[in-house]
Amino acid sequence: MKKEIKATQPALIDIEAYIEEIKSIWDTKIMTNNGEKVNKFRQMLMDGIGCDNVDLFVNGHSALLIAIKSLGLKGEVITSPFTFISTTNAIVQNGLTPVFGDIDDSYNLDPASVESLLTDKTCAIITPHIFGIPCKVEEIGQIAKKHDLKVIYDGAQAFGTKVNGKSIAHYGDMTMFSFHAIKVFNSIEGGAIVYRDKALHKLFELYRNFGISYGETENDVDVIGINAKMNEFQAAMGIVNLSRAEEEFALRKRIAEKYCECLKDIPGIKTYDYCEDIDYNYAYFPIKVNDEYGMTRDKLWIKLKENGIGSRKLYDKLACDYTCYKNAGYIRSTRNADKVKEVALDLPMYGTLKEEDVIYICEMIKRFKV
Ligand SMILES: *Cc1c(COP(=O)(O)O)cnc(C)c1O
Repeated sequence: MKKEIKATQPALIDIEAYIEEIKSIWDTKIMTNNGEKVNKFRQMLMDGIGCDNVDLFVNGHSALLIAIKSLGLKGEVITSPFTFISTTNAIVQNGLTPVFGDIDDSYNLDPASVESLLTDKTCAIITPHIFGIPCKVEEIGQIAKKHDLKVIYDGAQAFGTKVNGKSIAHYGDMTMFSFHAIKVFNSIEGGAIVYRDKALHKLFELYRNFGISYGETENDVDVIGINAKMNEFQAAMGIVNLSRAEEEFALRKRIAEKYCECLKDIPGIKTYDYCEDIDYNYAYFPIKVNDEYGMTRDKLWIKLKENGIGSRKLYDKLACDYTCYKNAGYIRSTRNADKVKEVALDLPMYGTLKEEDVIYICEMIKRFKV
């Protein structure tokens, strides 16, 4: 029988532990609106990240929308086109103009490209740590400081990644994390903002609950908010999953090492050059399929699929090339990104992927080479 290996799988923990965690919801009768689960989950995240400024949201996209909104920005935002469309949408939905920079070897926004695209209208850099691989955070921080720009990282894929021993969320003015089912750590759906400026907490509370401020005798609506509250069932899943997140990262690290070992001698297949001083979360396992391989990335994707192996072409289309953006006249400088989108392929990656499956996938890739 043909093997079937999925491209991705959610980390679904022990059902008993989840049931145990949600039981008290039947006692408190509080299902949402900042209940005890949300508060407990938030505290656990603060402890894990090493930062007291953490707020929770129903999903990563609303968190990013609100993060941007809270700064009252106007003008141009430099961003990476090599991302999930959420990043771009959140910028444009806030009335800002995206300026698409190029990417470097980390698949992320190249600091040199940022410098070349600065204008007197630039107000911020809003960009992802794609595949859980960090941007060049030190250099981006220096550019932002020099030109008085805000930095918001879309860390949707980067929960658990550490730079110089500390959470990636310690860089930039804010970092959004997504806890969607297929992210490396999940609360079914969910999102968080980790931030520097304590004063933003009040604004985040307002924006995620319609803008309503609760007074002693009467309520008011201070800002035009949305509904983006995390509910108790999501938080309970987050609590239970968080207790085994380190285990998940460790499993993924072993898988990544196995891939690197098995793929290293295949001409034209390039794995990522992981750095010593970064703890990756291995959210994805990207490779580049170069000319030497003799078959294009798209062909390899089909061959793998025919053999029961799922892989993902992230991102075969740049954000600025989608129908809703391609004729908007946004500035782009995407030479390298235009190449990478043709050759990048994400191989199956999740904690429960078996070592024998990794070996099998690599054997297939070796066998297909022409
Ligand atoms: C998943 C993802 C998002 C959106 O997060 P949700 O929790 O699904 O709303 C945003 N940006 C990037 C880069 C993502 O991968």
